[in-house]
Amino acid sequence: MAEEEKKKTAAAAEKTKGFFGEFKKFVMRGNVIDMAVGVIIGAAFGSIVTALTENVINPLIGCIGNPEVEGFVIPLIKGQEINLGAFITAVINFVIMAFVLFLIVKAMNKAMTIGKKKEEEAAPKTKVCPFCKSEINIEATRCPHCTSELKD
Ligand SMILES: [Zn+2]
Repeated sequence: MAEEEKKKTAAAAEKTKGFFGEFKKFVMRGNVIDMAVGVIIGAAFGSIVTALTENVINPLIGCIGNPEVEGFVIPLIKGQEINLGAFITAVINFVIMAFVLFLIVKAMNKAMTIGKKKEEEAAPKTKVCPFCKSEINIEATRCPHCTSELKD
């Protein structure tokens, strides 16, 4: 009985160690660092897009249409107003962001498939002996399992 209990405790301890060990591995693998870099770059990227819309695109639209986009406001009663310009700016921001992200994801996917193709195209390193059907080195001239001589 006592021994069984000891075993149970040991198993439980190992499980906890495994869980935290896995967590430690996950943290140490660099995923968290990668994510942090991604978040920071994402935030910086967002401000670049905002700057582009505010300083380049909005003035251009303002030149074409009459009112400046940011200032395109529809006044309502009781001092409320619909800020259509700010909404349009947000939409433009989103479209630019989505488009650039789409390009990035597309490029990443392409890069991933290139890597996979190279792996698949790697020459096989083994062949099957026609006599004993064992897997052997592709360059072997004699089977190490059944000692048959291989012609090719
Ligand atoms: Zn063989």
